[in-house]
Amino acid sequence: MASHIVGYPRMGPKRELKFALESFWDGKSSADDLEKVASDLRSSIWKQMSEAGIKYIPSNTFSYYDQVLDTTAMLGAVPERYSWTGGEIGLSTYFSMARGNATVPAMEMTKWFDTNYHFIVPELGPSTKFTYASHKAVSEYKEAKALGIDTVPVLVGPVSYLLLSKPAKGVEKSFSLLSLLGSILPIYKEVVSELKAAGASWIQFDEPTLVKDLDVHELAAFSSAYAELESAFSGLNVLIETYFADIPAESYKTLTSLSGVTAYGFDLIRGAKTLDLIRSSFPSGKYLFAGVVDGRNIWADDLAASLSTLQSLEAVAGKDKLVVSTSCSLMHTAVDLVNETKLDDEIKSWLAFAAQKVVEVNALAKALAGQKDEAYFAANAAAQASRRSSPRVTNEEVQKAAAALKGSDHRRATTVAARLDAQQKKLNLPVLPTTTIGSFPQTVELRRVRREYKAKKISEEEYISAIKEEISKVVKIQEELDIDVLVHGEPERNDMVEYFGEQLSGFAFTANGWVQSYGSRCVKPPIIYGDVSRPNPMTVFWSKTAQSMTARPMKGMLTGPVTILNWSFVRNDQPRFETCYQIALAIKKEVEDLEAAGIQVIQIDEAALREGLPLRKSEHAFYLDWAVHSFRITNCGVQDTTQIHTHMCYSNFNDIIHSIIDMDADVITIENSRSDEKLLSVFREGVKYGAGIGPGVYDIHSPRIPSTEEIADRVNKMLAVLDTNILWVNPDCGLKTRKYTEVKPALTNMVSATKLIRTQL
Ligand code: GLN
Ligand code: ZN
Repeated sequence: MASHIVGYPRMGPKRELKFALESFWDGKSSADDLEKVASDLRSSIWKQMSEAGIKYIPSNTFSYYDQVLDTTAMLGAVPERYSWTGGEIGLSTYFSMARGNATVPAMEMTKWFDTNYHFIVPELGPSTKFTYASHKAVSEYKEAKALGIDTVPVLVGPVSYLLLSKPAKGVEKSFSLLSLLGSILPIYKEVVSELKAAGASWIQFDEPTLVKDLDVHELAAFSSAYAELESAFSGLNVLIETYFADIPAESYKTLTSLSGVTAYGFDLIRGAKTLDLIRSSFPSGKYLFAGVVDGRNIWADDLAASLSTLQSLEAVAGKDKLVVSTSCSLMHTAVDLVNETKLDDEIKSWLAFAAQKVVEVNALAKALAGQKDEAYFAANAAAQASRRSSPRVTNEEVQKAAAALKGSDHRRATTVAARLDAQQKKLNLPVLPTTTIGSFPQTVELRRVRREYKAKKISEEEYISAIKEEISKVVKIQEELDIDVLVHGEPERNDMVEYFGEQLSGFAFTANGWVQSYGSRCVKPPIIYGDVSRPNPMTVFWSKTAQSMTARPMKGMLTGPVTILNWSFVRNDQPRFETCYQIALAIKKEVEDLEAAGIQVIQIDEAALREGLPLRKSEHAFYLDWAVHSFRITNCGVQDTTQIHTHMCYSNFNDIIHSIIDMDADVITIENSRSDEKLLSVFREGVKYGAGIGPGVYDIHSPRIPSTEEIADRVNKMLAVLDTNILWVNPDCGLKTRKYTEVKPALTNMVSATKLIRTQL
């Protein structure tokens, strides 16, 4: 019985690659230095898997930036603006595509399916010339081989590559990207032949788009692509790996009849229905790579349960054709539990990061082969039992309250129009009220204060007085700028989820649980391990303090339940919506305490609501229903005169606009400045929006300072489709990552533009 790992984190257990990359980009180290760090990481990962006993060890899952960009390099599909002149693509062209350079902007980046990983979107068109321009897959295979490790080279499959691409600038939107298959397959064939010549006996093609909703035409592309590649496959075992969701029945049929393919990999964690398909028919003589160990979460596998699933699959695929695997690449989980010093032993016993998952996969394979490590399985069973029964996990009161929410509805009693009237009587805001999204620049000094307080190097009094001083500075700046609805600037927060997680029960935090988000950037999601409750108010002190410093309305600032959920590692022992409802109840308490403390405007950020959309359309309605319901639960109990704001990032809202309306917030501020037209077109097409809305008037992700004219122009464009009395004027998102030298002039221009337009109304 064999074991396989779909892919492995590249960053290193202590983010070694991140630091090497950033030092190289800053010109502080050489390409040789960077390559040395990279090859050391690769060899340690291969050795680790080999020592663990993994049979099918992946190679070419390392990347200096992104595996899709690596594929673009392999195919030589460099957009013209990078002036690449041919030959093997080097680091400078590669990083220019990833990050831009002094003269040319980067390629677009977008989310990799429903993960928090972002890939570089290929830009293709009828005139794109493809040539074999990066031999990385072959050289990594050889590199491992030289270490005595025979690996399975992994390639992004040709059809997924094209389906994830976009038409280059100037190319008609209707251009069929799949029409390029004929141009890229010859290069894939070359790569396959070289790998074969180098000694490879297996090749893995990642085709995760197979789990999406595909049309007949797209499915046909899989059949023709692999039929075309078949001639290059002779003498090889070819694995097609799918992940992140159930595979639709039609796609399963197509997949299992692809020519030349000998093995199929499935995500059996996200895709519970896939098991039924496999059980009802699996082609004889083919390998089944069963992804039973979760690649996207941090929980120790329930080995007994997995073993029984695997045993049932032996009958389907045959003993010698069943391979134990991970549900997807382990790059979506944390790297190594060994480096966790902050977590207590009990919680640690419930967890498995990538390094531990490798061991789990192998233990399962050995157990299937009749060499069960009884002690290891017993320890695992004990940990599972302790997790199930631990009083730290269960809070019956919370469970009852959350369960009661399911199937019911929670809404504010009056219509948004009536509420806005009541609020306006109290708040007395000018037309086109101005505001910001929450955070103000986080200076080095501010970060130092927080760090020293955490490390107990400064006293609580010192900390409080430093934060108060910062708030008062931010309040003064906003008053001087003449902004209408103020924020306290969030100086006490390192991160909009961590700040709340640290004060809620049921959350744990890692020291090194980093997951790659894009390029060298990593995030460290909190772990939700138990029922969530709020023992004490979390923000009331700071909001009250801030409000006491000004006569203008001060927004209370909270992170919403869906965003907290989507940016955490969540429990796998209850449905996501249940955890979300629990968080919603905790945030509800906070909202009510803020209201009682005299805060009249409360913003509940749902930056990541859209992000949580399931991959398959058939599951959207259910998700949106409980996500939007969770949001409403947080504020359904406030008075009409309390104004509830929400904020969302990413501008692609058209498909969920009705859910946004259903959130029933009084005011929504939306990131918009990178695609004005898109958002506004919904309203132009007649969607009725009666609540307040502030589409961001400038992009805070760039250091550029927008001019007054430019902002006025944008506001006027919005006024053409939105009623004057509902429009708010605000930046795109929080100002945390900007400098004061950028923020002050930008906001000055924002306020001037607003005042100018007010005189013209
Ligand atoms: N209130 C948060 C801030 O301003 C919102 C951040 C976000 O939308 N990502 O920082
Ligand atoms: Zn935002």
